[in-house]
Amino acid sequence: LNQDFGERQMFDATCSKCGNATQVPFQPSGDRPVYCRDCFQQMRGEKRGGGGFGGGAGGDRQMYDAVCATCGAATQVPFKPSGERPVYCREHYKRDRN
Ligand SMILES: [Zn+2]
Ligand SMILES: [Zn+2]
Repeated sequence: LNQDFGERQMFDATCSKCGNATQVPFQPSGDRPVYCRDCFQQMRGEKRGGGGFGGGAGGDRQMYDAVCATCGAATQVPFKPSGERPVYCREHYKRDRN
């Protein structure tokens, strides 16, 4: 009985890397791996290799890896996700504000 429509539904999942139980805001399909917050951030960090994505303009804000609560896409936000409130990819963030 889900009366609170403000709550995002979270699905139980198991991290493909460390095996820890975690929760994700999308239904795990089984054909792609799901990672816990720690492993996700670790992998993003490794893949990126400190390249930066803005083209090196000075004064870039520090960005944190996050998962969009609406579509489940990997994204980055300019604040550290606390896990208590949802974060959104750029597209859904804009949509939410309008
Ligand atoms: Zn993990
Ligand atoms: Zn999104």
